[in-house]
Amino acid sequence: MRLDIITCLPRLLESPFSDSILKRAQDKGLVTVKIHDLRPYSTNKHRTTDDYAFGGGAGMVMMIEPIDRCISALKAERTYDDIIYMSPDGELLSQSIANQLSLKQNLILLCGHYKGVDERVRQHLITREISIGDYVLSGGELAAAVVADSVIRLLPGVLNDETSALSDSFQDGMIAPPVYTRPAEYNGWKVPDVLLSGHQAKIEDWKQEQSLKRTKERRPGLTS
Ligand code: SAH
Repeated sequence: MRLDIITCLPRLLESPFSDSILKRAQDKGLVTVKIHDLRPYSTNKHRTTDDYAFGGGAGMVMMIEPIDRCISALKAERTYDDIIYMSPDGELLSQSIANQLSLKQNLILLCGHYKGVDERVRQHLITREISIGDYVLSGGELAAAVVADSVIRLLPGVLNDETSALSDSFQDGMIAPPVYTRPAEYNGWKVPDVLLSGHQAKIEDWKQEQSLKRTKERRPGLTS
């Protein structure tokens, strides 16, 4: 998979991709992540990528031209399955959207900033809009990193234990059971006996029970 992320603040995206699972996925060649700074695509002399809003009002608006030039340059190189604008009013990100996106070859994620992008970008240049929740962030960079993380960890070979993503919450319409590690007792707080019993069938039953209980308590809608 290849992910091209377009932003006017590339530094905001450096760290999420340079550690842990997302870094390993790139090192293993399972995903290519390219961050594109919009600035070089600006044609004005100060290389700005935003301007005042027509009609007035507070906040700058990201201009269409640098975005169009950047997307066109990428599209000239390869075909994209989707060109996604990160937007608070887009489709709400879910595990099923992450699953869907993980099957794609090439994706562009466009990050807005300030008041957002010129509406004509949304009308003519992008194919899909995704939100990470009903709240407003300063920019699309953190949202794009969230989408990228949720998708990349699903790519075959990214997680060491292949079954690990499948046993996570939401994957099978269930919340994951609680997990424990050493020590078996801390401050008098004990790990459930069954997990130390070595009895695999009982452990599996316990996990299943806990998973159901959690799902009913926390996300009853998932089972309906
Ligand atoms: N004026 C816009 C908000 C702009 S926030 C409005 O009221 O809807 C600036 C940028 O941050 C957006 O262009 C978008 O790319 C990103 N952003 C903010 N909140 C987001 C969210 N919940 N999900 C995805 N992207 C978001």
